[in-house]
Parts: sequence; C-alpha cells; structure tokens
Amino acid sequence: MLICRTINEIREFVRQVRERGRTIGLVPTMGYFHEGHLSLMREAKKACAAAVVSIFVNPLQFGPQEDFHQYPRDFERDRKMAEETGVDAIFYPSVEEMYPAGFSTHVEVGGLTECLCGLSRPGHFRGVATVVAKLLNIVLPDKAFFGWKDAQQALVIRRMVRDLNMPVEIVTVPVVREPDGLAMSSRNVYLDPRERTAARVLFRSLQIAERAAAGGERDVARLQKAVRQEIASEPLVQIEYVEIRALPGLEPISRLQGPALLALAVRIGKTRLIDNTVLNPEGDQLAFDHV
Ligand code: AMP
Repeated sequence: MLICRTINEIREFVRQVRERGRTIGLVPTMGYFHEGHLSLMREAKKACAAAVVSIFVNPLQFGPQEDFHQYPRDFERDRKMAEETGVDAIFYPSVEEMYPAGFSTHVEVGGLTECLCGLSRPGHFRGVATVVAKLLNIVLPDKAFFGWKDAQQALVIRRMVRDLNMPVEIVTVPVVREPDGLAMSSRNVYLDPRERTAARVLFRSLQIAERAAAGGERDVARLQKAVRQEIASEPLVQIEYVEIRALPGLEPISRLQGPALLALAVRIGKTRLIDNTVLNPEGDQLAFDHV
C-alpha cells in the first residue's frame, strides 16, 4: 500500500492505475478508523480496481469553538487497518499541501445546507464541499464513497457533483452501528462510561419512530415528539435538533408521504453526536443510492 503525502505523488499513482485501464474508488475520511470507515473501503474495493483513502482532518469544516485540535488522530493505526482491508493507496496531505498560502476559493451548496447541521454548524458544509471538491479534482475517481451516518453531507456532495457536472458517481453506504445500536463515530472516544451508556438512547429513539411509522403514524410532529420524549428520559443528553424532512431535498414536511429523513443531533457532556434513519411510508427498504 502506497502512502502519498503530496498531490503530485497521488496524481502519479492515479496516472499509473489509469494507464492500465483500471477504475479508481475514493473514500474521503478524517481518519481514526472504525468499522464504518472500513465498510466504505470494502465497498470501494468491491466496485473499483483500486481503492484510495484520503485522511485529512479538514480545518475548514470546523468552527472556531469546535474540536479540530482535539480530534483523535493515529496514523499508524489507520495505516495498518487500511492495509488489512486491501486499500491500494492512502492520500495523507498536510494542511499546507491542501491550503497553501493565498488559498481563497470555496464551494457553497445552497438549499440543502440551510437546515439541520447547517444551522448549528455555520460554515461546516462549505468546508466539506470545498475539501471534497478538491479531493475529487486531485484523485479523479470513477466513484466516491460516503457513509449515510452523515446523511446531510452525502446529499450535499451529491448535489454539488450534479450542479458542477463533476464526472464521478457518489455511492452511499448504510450506517454501521455498535452491537447496542450506537452509530460508530471517531468522536465516540470522547464519551466517558456513563455518557457512553446514555448514548444508547439515540438509536432507541430512532427505533421508536421507525416502529410508529411502520404502524401507520404519518403525523411528523407526533413522530418528532416521540423521539424527543425518549431522548429526554436520559438527563445526560441535550437535544440540539430532532427533525423529519423530505428526501432528497430536505424540505420541511408535516406528513410522511414519501421517503423522509429523521435526523437528530445531541450533546452528551462536551461531545456532539448525530444519528439518523430513513422513514419510508411505502414500507420497502430504501436503496440509498436512489435517494
Ligand atoms: P469521517 O472520518 O468521520 O469524516 O467519516 C468519513 C466517512 O465515513 C464519511 O463518509 C462518513 O459518513 C463515513 N462514516 C463515518 N461513520 C460511519 C458509520 N458509523 N457508518 C457508515 N459510514 C460512516
């Protein structure tokens, strides 16, 4: 497995893969891998001849009061895990390599970013869209892989790729969870044992809404209330938002009619966690790639 610290190095790798007529899958990450990241890498390996994983904690997508400096990092551990998963190359650039002095161009995706995490984290999706646009331009993959754990992010990236005619297919992969239902996240290491136990309430609350919707409940306010009530049973957990919005445009809705995203963000102590599920009144399992 090749490790590239510069744009020139990864471009040379990509050139050689292309010369042999092979396809490339890109998995953008901020590192500190868990099973969620590995599932994206496996999908990339299955769908493409060569899998490239980028590891870059992107300062542009963190607010001034957020955890950019504390964000967990362990390149040696990540390197081993990627190698064991069959990744062909890691792109691991420095901040200076990605944002040299004078960098001043940003990608702004409208609409979709004006709700949910876009409200609580101003500038976050601008930072995400900008870095992903750069990574797509650097690696020029056939397919790029994103987790549904960050559903709004996946929708924003898909919109950017369509709006800017980027020649890449965006593939989304379902949320990977711990055995007790907590969505895997690099930030879960911030939780102390009591907070970790309290965090189970997130998945429980999503399941309550899933069951109610499956049982015929269509009223969005009532579904949201049921989720909030369940979360409120855990005093350590503070709700930032609980919202149900239409897919794929994230418009507000009052009744479930087509596929909708139930998304939530909470704080547990100093840790901010997000989770989501798709509610589909038609009942069938939604293929994420058709969202
Ligand atoms: P991150 O390193 O947290 O920026 O995540 C990199 C990619 O992995 C993003 O596309 C995330 O949506 C995805 N990802 C993170 N956690 C999970 C998870 N639990 N299940 C599936 N994908 C995930």
